[in-house]
Amino acid sequence: MKRRKTRKIKIGTVAIGGDAPISIQSMTKTDTKAADSTINEIRKLKKAGCEIIRVAVKDKDSIVSFKRIVARAGIPVVADIHFLPQLALGAIEAGCAALRLNPGNIKRKEDIAEIIKRAKEKKIPIRIGVNSGSLSQRRGAVADSMVKSALDYIKIFEKMDFYDIIISLKSSNVNETIDAYRKMAPLSDYPFHLGVTAAGPFLSSAVKSSIGIGTLLKEGIGDTIRVSLTGDPLREVEIAKEILASLSLRCFGPEIISCPTCGRCEIDLQKIVGNFKERLKEIGPKNMKRPLKIAIMGCVVNGPGEAKDADIGIAGGKNNGALFKKGKKVKNLKENEFVDTLIEEIKALHKE
Ligand code: SF4
Repeated sequence: MKRRKTRKIKIGTVAIGGDAPISIQSMTKTDTKAADSTINEIRKLKKAGCEIIRVAVKDKDSIVSFKRIVARAGIPVVADIHFLPQLALGAIEAGCAALRLNPGNIKRKEDIAEIIKRAKEKKIPIRIGVNSGSLSQRRGAVADSMVKSALDYIKIFEKMDFYDIIISLKSSNVNETIDAYRKMAPLSDYPFHLGVTAAGPFLSSAVKSSIGIGTLLKEGIGDTIRVSLTGDPLREVEIAKEILASLSLRCFGPEIISCPTCGRCEIDLQKIVGNFKERLKEIGPKNMKRPLKIAIMGCVVNGPGEAKDADIGIAGGKNNGALFKKGKKVKNLKENEFVDTLIEEIKALHKE
């Protein structure tokens, strides 16, 4: 897919936009003042695949703790600022890798100018994070109001020769989110941070984010993503990875093709696939040198076809199955040999 041309902006060590891979972000849910638990949460998120973390800087008391978090996070930390411009200045002093400002609640031009001046001195990019829930003015459709809000804010930055900008236009409504980014896309070359805001608990978040973020990515729009989820932030990262992998934009491990099973299935496919996913951790994404497609199918209806199309595949039979490699059947396996065999075959393929 052809990607929208954008400037490349650096958030700490992570490049956003241009030809940089689409990165995964999340946000801490702990109290920022509790530095240790926040650092702990960030480390878990990093291990799960989060590449940039946003931390709420809510009040003056959070700044001391924020500084410790930045120093020990191990990934770039973005300070999330609302209402109080002095917190943005404090976060810059504390060493944040980027700022997120909300045009809906930091509005005085003098305040914005002071933040821009300091960010420019420290070479810190700023995300202009428009959110439908905090729009200061609504004119016409929500998507139009979000775009207008971003464009008005951008003007202030550009007047001060500040171009280290990332844009987000998030609504809790999937259609509004898609419309807003689509409308904004031809109007600027700043990279986009994509997300559907307040997307709800796991299932609703997974569906809304996949449709909202996925549709835009498929059109070549978007440079970094954050899945919003009411619940464990590790699951945000999990969904984000699935979205990127489904569109073949990033590879985090083999793509698993497995059927939903039905009355024809005579193996415990759900258990086999679950065990296989667990055992994949032994190999680890860093050792997956190339994308692989692994098919584990319930029976001979679609099994042999999918197994032949995959790099490695198994088509289930009655408590057994046929192993396929690179399109050819190589041997029969007992059901309890499936997982070990797949793991060995994957390891062997990565050694080739
Ligand atoms: Fe059912 Fe076989 Fe299709 Fe799986 S592959 S859903 S077991 S018919």
